[in-house]
Amino acid sequence: MLFMNQSLVKNWSESVSFSPKEILYPNSIHEIVEIVKLANEQNRKIRMMGSKHSFSPLITSTDLLISLDRLQGLINIDKVKQIAEIWAGTKLSTLGNELAKQGYAQENLGDINVQSLAGALLTGTHGTGNNFGILSTQLEEVTVILGTGELVTCSREINSDLFHAIGVSFGLLGIVVKMKIRVIPLATYEYKSKRIIVEELKNNLEELKTINKHFEFYLFPYAKEIQIKTMNMTLKESKSLKWEKWKISTLENNLFFLMSEMVRLFPKLSRIVSRISAKSVPNSIMIGYSHELFSTERKVKFNEMEYNIPKEYMVEAFTRIIDVIEKQKYKFIFQLNVDLLKVIIFG
Ligand SMILES: Cc1cc2nc3c(=O)[nH]c(=O)nc-3n(C[C@H](O)[C@H](O)[C@H](O)COP(=O)(O)OP(=O)(O)OC[C@H]3O[C@@H](n4cnc5c(N)ncnc54)[C@H](O)[C@@H]3O)c2cc1C
Repeated sequence: MLFMNQSLVKNWSESVSFSPKEILYPNSIHEIVEIVKLANEQNRKIRMMGSKHSFSPLITSTDLLISLDRLQGLINIDKVKQIAEIWAGTKLSTLGNELAKQGYAQENLGDINVQSLAGALLTGTHGTGNNFGILSTQLEEVTVILGTGELVTCSREINSDLFHAIGVSFGLLGIVVKMKIRVIPLATYEYKSKRIIVEELKNNLEELKTINKHFEFYLFPYAKEIQIKTMNMTLKESKSLKWEKWKISTLENNLFFLMSEMVRLFPKLSRIVSRISAKSVPNSIMIGYSHELFSTERKVKFNEMEYNIPKEYMVEAFTRIIDVIEKQKYKFIFQLNVDLLKVIIFG
């Protein structure tokens, strides 16, 4: 097992930083059980960390911090039941590639794929789409080490209370070591990013939500244009994603970084920068496997808050938020708010 003493730990956005007494990287379930038992004897406190991508201080610890980076990978797939068993420390990007090699995929993913499986599933991480729940609705079984050191399996049938609670438990119900999730056969998808006028969105929202398997949009204050993103299964042949991914990454990271820095230094430019950002939205199409298309590279740091709003109030809610920003003439620092208005649609 790897130990690290007193190093400074920061989350992705660098809004959270702390120095745990020790960081432990166990290699096996047995080692984790031993750590938990020893911590109990010594009255020490344990926090788990995944890929440190939570914006809230969920992984903050002044004592023992444990990472499952050494417990990664696909354990097996039951191809009849379409259920995969996976080590909880597995990064979603690794999982996507390993599942694809076997001809399978996760049914839905969020905007990035660098999270650990446990970190993503235990925090209510979600993607988009009218017919999908949060990622932990993919769960079929969880193997967890409780605070006593006891190794327990839970599912809808066994220890069902624990199973239902653990889905969004922020690491508070024990150390999750393995998970079984439902998977679907690997399929080709068409991803489209398009710039449209906000009025067009309002007039066609119901249709856009219904006809697209995955749909989301981004609003820009002070601008008439918005970005919509859709993803649907297709029978079209996949093309190399390198050029389109490079184009999107350059626009959404490098150009966006420059614009955000400009607004940080000269807040008065916010209105014009937001309008330029809206006009720079690429009209692009990519065809590939879902695990290649769901995720975006995010190099520009931001902090994000999310609110769930009943869908019947969605248009009113985003119209009023934009109105307030514009009426109050907020020097809107775009990079802090880019995902604030990202609309996630649940069933
Ligand atoms: C750029 C960016 C984009 C994002 N996009 C989305 C998005 O599209 N949709 C969305 O919903 N969210 C999104 N998020 C949020 C992100 O998915 C969550 O914060 C997720 O929890 C991060 O996973 P992680 O592996 O980094 O977990 P961490 O942040 O490291 O940990 C999260 C929680 O899980 C616990 N934990 C970790 N491993 C274990 C374990 N083995 N056993 C028990 N508990 C454990 C930790 O104690 C902590 O409470 C985004 C975040 C960023 C920075």
